[in-house]
Amino acid sequence: MRLLIVGQGLAGTLISHRALQLGWDAHVIDAGLPSASAVAAGMFNPMSFRRIVEVWEAEKHLRCMTETYRDLEGLLGVPLMHALPIHKCLPNEAYAAEWRKKAQSLHWLTPATDTHLQTGAVEGGGWIDLPLLLSAWRERLASAGRFEQRHLAAPDRSALQAGQWDALVDCRGVHIKEDTALTPLDIRVNRGELLTISASAQAAPPGDSILNFGKWTIPLGHGTWRLGASYEWNRNDLDTTDATGELLISKLSNQLGADPSDFNIEAHHAGLRPVSRDRRPAVGLHPGARQWYVFNGLGTRGVLIGPRWARYLCGLMGGKNAQNTVVQPSRLSIQHS
Ligand SMILES: Cc1cc2nc3c(=O)[nH]c(=O)nc-3n(C[C@H](O)[C@H](O)[C@H](O)COP(=O)(O)OP(=O)(O)OC[C@H]3O[C@@H](n4cnc5c(N)ncnc54)[C@H](O)[C@@H]3O)c2cc1C
Repeated sequence: MRLLIVGQGLAGTLISHRALQLGWDAHVIDAGLPSASAVAAGMFNPMSFRRIVEVWEAEKHLRCMTETYRDLEGLLGVPLMHALPIHKCLPNEAYAAEWRKKAQSLHWLTPATDTHLQTGAVEGGGWIDLPLLLSAWRERLASAGRFEQRHLAAPDRSALQAGQWDALVDCRGVHIKEDTALTPLDIRVNRGELLTISASAQAAPPGDSILNFGKWTIPLGHGTWRLGASYEWNRNDLDTTDATGELLISKLSNQLGADPSDFNIEAHHAGLRPVSRDRRPAVGLHPGARQWYVFNGLGTRGVLIGPRWARYLCGLMGGKNAQNTVVQPSRLSIQHS
């Protein structure tokens, strides 16, 4: 199988990795546009906290995710996966009671034992160093002559038609919306901002766990943390806003009983998450083109679910899997909605 992969964010990285694992010929092009993956915190969490439920097929995703990132760590010789417990702040007694009830059947959860902090713990979480993964994988592809920095262009479409490639995998994230030659898919933009902060010793968030208080902190070491994130619809610029930075800091200060001046903003980033209306990814044949596959809509959980869907998509392209209707891209075809 000869694949042309367009885009090397998380989606293009995972597909090219899986294709090469299978012994296929994979070539990746990337235009160097702003990508969600380059700014994402990379967190993974088997739980959804709103209703205290397990993420759909969490166990299977986590197993595949761990295998994939461990394999990439071995190939690239860099530490990518940082497993950490997640401590969820239990905002009120009703939520805490629900947590205790769910902890009896969901093995990820431990009951809230620390009455002072009012947190419950989740196992199976952590974060992936996505900027490091992207740059190290790109270097490896480039040194094997499998990577070019350029835009998808008309000759690529002709090369596909002429049979130079067996398939194209479109991993352009939110940039897929800029392609007017293709039947549009309803991939929406969810804009997020996050901070890298340092903190004074008396106000330091936990250094050995992720703290979730509606917002979250992830310890990066060396006295720094990621603090995120915002979720905004109807906006798709990448300008960071002071008001969002201040809001994130004030939520953290309130949570820790600290003063906002205890924190310094070391970096502030914005990015655009590709999201579908039903929050499922788009994985499969594009409804308006032949030999043109889509791997998109990874949303807020790309790190956790991406590896398993990359494996599935290679199975689909290789004729081993049937199209899974839950993730079928044609459901997002704008003509049909
Ligand atoms: C602030 C923020 C925090 C987040 N935190 C988390 C988190 O903690 N955990 C989690 O799982 N997810 C998180 N996400 C979501 C996650 O980032 C996305 O699910 C994932 O990165 C999407 O990856 P992608 O490869 O589909 O798109 P992108 O990462 O956007 O990559 C698209 C790539 O396509 C390339 N491209 C576009 N058009 C063309 C073209 N015409 N020709 C060639 N190349 C092209 C671009 O240059 C880019 O490299 C976060 C997102 C944001 C914005």
